[in-house]
Amino acid sequence: MTEQHIPEAVAQLRKHFASGLTRSDEWRDGQLSALSRMLSDNTALFETALQRDLGKSPVEGVLTELGFLLTEIDHTRAQLRRWMRPTRVRTALALQPASARIVAEPYGVVLVIAPWNYPLMLALSPVIGALSAGNTVVIKPSELAPHTSELLARIVPSYLDHRAVTVIEGAVEETTALLSEKFDYIFYTGNGTVGRIVMTAAAQHLTPVTLELGGKSPVYVDETTDLRQAAQRIAWGKFVNAGQTCVAPDYLLATEPVIQRLTPLLAEAVRSLYGTAAQKNPDYGRIVNTRHTERLAALIDDGTAVVGGGVDVEDLFIEPTVLTDVSRDSEVMAHEIFGPILPMIAVSDLDDAIGYVRSGDKPLALYVFSEDGGTRQRWTDETSSGALAFGVPMAHLMVPDLPFGGVGASGMGAYHGQRSFLTFSHEKAVLSKPLSPDTLRSTIMPPYTAGKETV
Ligand code: NAD
Repeated sequence: MTEQHIPEAVAQLRKHFASGLTRSDEWRDGQLSALSRMLSDNTALFETALQRDLGKSPVEGVLTELGFLLTEIDHTRAQLRRWMRPTRVRTALALQPASARIVAEPYGVVLVIAPWNYPLMLALSPVIGALSAGNTVVIKPSELAPHTSELLARIVPSYLDHRAVTVIEGAVEETTALLSEKFDYIFYTGNGTVGRIVMTAAAQHLTPVTLELGGKSPVYVDETTDLRQAAQRIAWGKFVNAGQTCVAPDYLLATEPVIQRLTPLLAEAVRSLYGTAAQKNPDYGRIVNTRHTERLAALIDDGTAVVGGGVDVEDLFIEPTVLTDVSRDSEVMAHEIFGPILPMIAVSDLDDAIGYVRSGDKPLALYVFSEDGGTRQRWTDETSSGALAFGVPMAHLMVPDLPFGGVGASGMGAYHGQRSFLTFSHEKAVLSKPLSPDTLRSTIMPPYTAGKETV
């Protein structure tokens, strides 16, 4: 579909939404079921597309993208009718008799803009929420994952209601054209610079937005934890998808003695995950393009590589890398790394670590490896982040009842599980008061007489 067809495509989705057909629970469930079938029937095609876009191993593709989506769809289908039911709430005493309910209604036409790093999961996970809430949807996949984008554009229409779901491929030009249209909700995942563009465009139509952004997610490790286990989990969280994960641990904070003990354990953990030659290991992914590979290669020079450090730009390969001797003012600490490089920053103590995190933007995720209850409590009370996890990075994504989203510079709004359904629903207040008995005239209407102020 070309740019000129965008207004017409959006108008068609609006017309279909206005028909009311997307509101029934049968339609919603039918779409979710079709989405599930689409993923199952075409698993091999999706695995190949992900491999071409990011060198992703088929197992990792299933674990982190297809499997995640199928679980989310199952959970949503099992709960949907319960979520759709109006919620009764109590009415004020002065209004009784009356009844009050919250009715979740679909917004209308929704735009989902996806990034390249989990190009399938992040394009479709919001769509599960949008369809479950009864909306029609434009999906705009990332142009930087062209194989996944093309595959979605090709097969979505043969599974989902084509009057209700449209895939529009493209880059800045097409997204800009889309953003000039009036949508009823915009769900954007990606970097904060474009997040600001999206929010500015949305403001022209007073369209509500969810912004799933990124940033630097810290991991703090102290001596009370099992350092071998911590190293294994941190290495997994950092190097899966070659570090191109929004909730990957971006950098590590620990005291110098902990860093000394952790260094060989991280090296051992990388070997256990990817062997001694990650470049030849099919389980290890690639950087999305040359520009990002060159950007990452330059960041390695900001410290001493105590693990990895190898680069092959032509192969889009950056070795799993751990850096020490990194200055807090260096480039690698200035922006989200979004690649397989883990700088370790020495802190003098817990106060220093908390102070450092607080001095930056609020992270999307914050990870703490400490068995000390007081330390855990201090991180909980004294810092703000989209999520806080003890003892494991990234796994909060797998809990459907935990809201997933950022705060401050890491985003606004959240989704997953019921939160997705609510994100794409307007919670309408519905009040019903019988005309008789007439309890209002003597309470809240003039003429005002003594005693009415107590109402
Ligand atoms: P990207 O380059 O694919 O961009 C995201 C989307 O924005 C794409 O669909 C793209 O076409 C569109 N876009 C790009 N420039 C635009 C412009 N000028 N105007 C309008 N639209 C435009 O992906 P990215 O932003 O490089 O993704 C990486 C970032 O996303 C990281 O910061 C990462 O942390 C974040 N991220 C966040 C989450 C989350 O769930 N919070 C998940 C994944 C990635």
